[in-house]
Amino acid sequence: VLVCFEGGEGSGKSTQSRLLTTWLREQGYVVRPTFEPGDTPVGAELRRIVLSPDTGALADRTEVLLYAADKAEHVETLVLPALARGEVVVTDRYVDSTLAYQGAGRALEVAEVADVARWATGDLRPHLTVVLDLEPAAGLGRFEGRDRIEGESLDFHQRVRAAFVAMAAEDPEHYLVLDARAGVDEIAEQVRAGVRPWLAA
Ligand code: C5P
Repeated sequence: VLVCFEGGEGSGKSTQSRLLTTWLREQGYVVRPTFEPGDTPVGAELRRIVLSPDTGALADRTEVLLYAADKAEHVETLVLPALARGEVVVTDRYVDSTLAYQGAGRALEVAEVADVARWATGDLRPHLTVVLDLEPAAGLGRFEGRDRIEGESLDFHQRVRAAFVAMAAEDPEHYLVLDARAGVDEIAEQVRAGVRPWLAA
């Protein structure tokens, strides 16, 4: 089973990934928590390049390809082997982040970015994607510009947020949109309720 968390900066994805992982392990599942970009040796290098403020301006297409390379490495060397072992993979960000940030956020054709990301991942899709939805100003307030993306305009982050919600609306069976302003425990419970049916499958 592949479960994915998506959302903007400061929406609580990593906290909820961790809580879901703990709960799944308590239920007896073998879980592989992971994240994009950067959870492979090559991916860590790519993450450094693409997110460091020192990188400066990066051509939009270069950015797409670097994220795509991270995904290709992630899926082939980490996600697919874990799934083949019967593990539950919980990933903090996946293809939708690229569609939202590089597609909707930058001035690129979302359909073209989708083609690249789907090719990179062999079109492996999550069973369930949990979108932690939050007003960008609220989420960004939790950080002090640690990376290039946090320094983007509020308008950029609003396009990203709208993209996540729109993708979810198109495929309600595979998405769960949660209000990230709710309490951590309340959100965790909603996540568990959303994931439960997929575990039996
Ligand atoms: O989720 P995390 O905070 O680790 O993401 C690191 C940064 O990478 C964030 O600022 C996020 O917005 C950005 N990012 C991006 N495009 C992606 C994935 C992440 O701009 N496809």
